[in-house]
Amino acid sequence: MKLSDKKWLIEQTQFEIDGKYETCFNLANGYMGVRGTFEDNHKVERLGTFVAGVFNKSEAQVGQLVNLPYFMGLKFYINNEYLDIHKCKVLDYYRALDMKQSLLYTSMLVEDEQGRQTRLEGYRFLSMANQHLVGLSYTFTPQNYSADITVESCIDGSTTNMFDNPWERVKHYEVVNKEVLSTGAIYLEAKTREDKYEIGMAAKLKVSREGNNVANRKRCVPLGEVIAEYVEFSGVENQKTTIEKYVSVVTNRDQNHISLRDTASNKLGAFYEESMNRQLEASIDVMKGIWKTSNITIEGDSKAELALRFNMYTLATLVNETDNEVSIAAKGLHGEWYNGHVFWDTEIFVLPYYIYNNPKAARTLLEYRYNKLDAARKNAAINGYKGARFPWESADSGKEETPRWGFDYKGNIMRIWPGDIEYHITSDISFAIWQYFRATNDIDFMQKYGAEIYVETARFWASRVEYNKEQDRYEINCVIGPDEFHEHVNNNLYTNYFARWNMLKAIEVLDMLQKDYSTSYKVLCHKIAFNKEEIQQWKEVIDKIYIPIKDENGIFEQNEGFFDLEDYVITKYDRNNMPVFPDEVNIVELDRYTLVKQADVMMLLYLLGEEFSDEAKAKNFEYYEARTMHKSSLSPSTYCIMGLRVNDHKKAYEYLMRTALVDLEDNQGNTYQGIHAASTGGTWQAAVFGFGAMYVTKEGKLGCHPLWLPENWESYTFNMMWQGTTLEITLTKTHITMTMLQGDIPLTLEIIGQDYILNPDQKIEIKR
Ligand code: BGC
Repeated sequence: MKLSDKKWLIEQTQFEIDGKYETCFNLANGYMGVRGTFEDNHKVERLGTFVAGVFNKSEAQVGQLVNLPYFMGLKFYINNEYLDIHKCKVLDYYRALDMKQSLLYTSMLVEDEQGRQTRLEGYRFLSMANQHLVGLSYTFTPQNYSADITVESCIDGSTTNMFDNPWERVKHYEVVNKEVLSTGAIYLEAKTREDKYEIGMAAKLKVSREGNNVANRKRCVPLGEVIAEYVEFSGVENQKTTIEKYVSVVTNRDQNHISLRDTASNKLGAFYEESMNRQLEASIDVMKGIWKTSNITIEGDSKAELALRFNMYTLATLVNETDNEVSIAAKGLHGEWYNGHVFWDTEIFVLPYYIYNNPKAARTLLEYRYNKLDAARKNAAINGYKGARFPWESADSGKEETPRWGFDYKGNIMRIWPGDIEYHITSDISFAIWQYFRATNDIDFMQKYGAEIYVETARFWASRVEYNKEQDRYEINCVIGPDEFHEHVNNNLYTNYFARWNMLKAIEVLDMLQKDYSTSYKVLCHKIAFNKEEIQQWKEVIDKIYIPIKDENGIFEQNEGFFDLEDYVITKYDRNNMPVFPDEVNIVELDRYTLVKQADVMMLLYLLGEEFSDEAKAKNFEYYEARTMHKSSLSPSTYCIMGLRVNDHKKAYEYLMRTALVDLEDNQGNTYQGIHAASTGGTWQAAVFGFGAMYVTKEGKLGCHPLWLPENWESYTFNMMWQGTTLEITLTKTHITMTMLQGDIPLTLEIIGQDYILNPDQKIEIKR
């Protein structure tokens, strides 16, 4: 294994326990994720082993992504004395996440209390080629001694969720079997306490020097909730011994297995036979394919380039395109916070990356929502509405999973309302379907799933609105918009505008189906008892829904009464350049002020940009930017894109770096909780729809209109997929170059306001 060059490495050069690294050095392969804690873990770090879709509730408020048994464990003993790296002097240290190859590399030289120096060097990976396999490979070199060395490899079934918080700690599974398999591997099986999920993990060590087995003794033994394998070898001064740990992980979610144990054992056996290197190569090949279609290169700004790649790497390794029962959690497969739940983060922030880089994965994520449509129907019905209302937080069943209680900024217990009244996620999902359809022309998806979601969500909105007789208008009252500082507000612009958009789009999709795909149309009408009279009712709501915009080119009121609140603008920033609340503001009564948590009106102006004038964008940017606290990591990417659109270049660049470095620099202060998945997606959008200046016209054409590139960006190249083709786009200060890397249809593109035809294998170069 050769480490990639620095342009692909996230590095740590000082030995320190820091939750930021646990998250940033997390490895994932769509199926599972493991936090970047050390193999020899003392539970001073937050261990995290997750398999997408494995949830359990037990004593927790809501279902939680289960922190599963820890299978990474490796410890070393010198002449039976435990080599505790936390008690050693660390003489040199280097860890790096190699994003090109998707592996975590470690090299450290440690000196124990007796002056014995040992170098440990190697890597671990979660195979991108076979989602069930994990490999660890380290060399152990005694630098100034010879001794008997024992390696301990374990699968530890004593992990809990929230191990660092006694008030929220929950053990979600029970160990139901620990066994030494006939192959000499160790095996642990766990079952979630509500009996829904079973997980099997098998592991086996290989200890060799120059290709030869050097294990002298071996012992496998169950130890309470742990099962361990011990292997002893003679450590010789200055000689490298290679220790490989092979692991397989399976669950009852992923197969109709006869025996979980046999499946885990067979997979492990094949991996062991095949060798670590071969599996690593296969995994690297998958990564090569990913980077081939979705790389970003910025000549002249290596910091931005590396940060963008980190965000894209995270996205590429988070999705399981073969499993439409799981989606992407707000904290990825990187941490327990937000309980592994799925929010609007997925459809509005994360999904575009997949739409334009891996449409198959995008479809799978949308199918997840379709699979939860029945639950969304129930969610509407139990609240007295028609159609389908998607939950604010979703897990495996699709029912509402938002906890009802949490803590405010001062640590007081508070009621959490989004599960009750943050409705906009329902139209966010409809919007995402449209984005996907526009970019892929996937009519099969639209016929089978999309259209049904449109009808059910339109039905929901038509039943959720309230008719105000006096004003002869429909309103949506008592909601939370994207800005969660203001709860129970009336007529949130974002919510009302998208509710109308949702109903309009439903009519458009139904028209299209009726005209061009009449059989599907009839099947759908029959399936969900739809008749055309409903459209009349939607039209009535569409015509009369209150859109609180008083002046088309003015500042838009976020919700009714917003302009009457106590007005503050942000004047102070902390050392991360993050806004600081003005001293006079009471941080537990934020609904009294015009300060907002995150982009709200600006989200609307970004997502439906073609419907608003440049003047409106500029005025609203100026007003809301001065009042946005960015207390959610979802916010900076929107301000980056809108900053470019309103020609505030300085701020746009600052926001790009803020969103791109959210986790690498921990600028929200909570990276230890898990990755900010929405921000990774927002960062990609900022790169492509912001600095890359790509857009989709009202008629559905792909366009590019570069405005500004930072001074030091000599050239900027990125890829995107559009209607079955893969494009490479390069921007310089003087030229735009578009190349069709793959595809067999000519494409009409709008470049700086003019149409061009790009043919397969061709390139267009245009002077700016
Ligand atoms: C934000 C939401 C977001 C959620 C999960 C909250 O703090 O306000 O918009 O969906 O975090 O990331």
